[in-house]
Amino acid sequence: MKRFCPKCGKEITENTMINNFCVDCYLSEHELIKIPVIDVVFCVKCFKIKMGTKWYNNFEGMEEDISKSIKYYDINQPKITTKINIDLENNIHNAEITIKTIIGNQFKELKYIENINIKKDTCLTCSRIAGNYYTTILQIRFNDKKLQKLILEKIIAEIKDIIFKINEKTSRPSANINIVREVSQKNGIDFYLDNLKYTKNLVTHLMKHKSATERKMSKSLVGIDKDGKDLIRTTFCVHFGNKE
Ligand SMILES: [Zn+2]
Ligand SMILES: [Zn+2]
Repeated sequence: MKRFCPKCGKEITENTMINNFCVDCYLSEHELIKIPVIDVVFCVKCFKIKMGTKWYNNFEGMEEDISKSIKYYDINQPKITTKINIDLENNIHNAEITIKTIIGNQFKELKYIENINIKKDTCLTCSRIAGNYYTTILQIRFNDKKLQKLILEKIIAEIKDIIFKINEKTSRPSANINIVREVSQKNGIDFYLDNLKYTKNLVTHLMKHKSATERKMSKSLVGIDKDGKDLIRTTFCVHFGNKE
């Protein structure tokens, strides 16, 4: 016995129907997926992007999270992929969502274009750099010119690499460490940083160098914060030199 779609009258078979309707009619009346509203904040200085409470350094992580946030009904284990298109100069900001699934025993690829709402702002890192906010100073000092020439660049690269790796692990800006400023000195360099705990880790790491001779720490009271607590700035100085 032939069967027909009750809505459009098209002939349907086991393979082309879903809940007794043809696939097209069913799709036109039922919401199979629900895409959440996509609101993002875009840092105008470093181009990092925030969705929810999470900051992303690139689109891939965000695309994955959008795919995961999509809800679906009446379809089994769809394969969801998202591609973000952001081109602010040409006013393009959308997410292309592709859903591959089986409907009525047939492979179906559904495509949706969802607008991305963009708000421009400055991220915590960039606003700290702009506002010269720092809590610690890490000083690297040499008592030997030759040694300085030989290893200072390497030590700077190491410090930056460690900071990069710490920041890569977290999407919370308050759990990051940022180089707010770096100042070259005749006998070394100063880094102005915004995370005491990670600065201590850096000092511990640097002291493992065979030419590291000593570390010094000093604290100074620089003011009072908005909750009335003392604002303390900590300076670490790591000395490198030829050991006598
Ligand atoms: Zn139909
Ligand atoms: Zn930024």
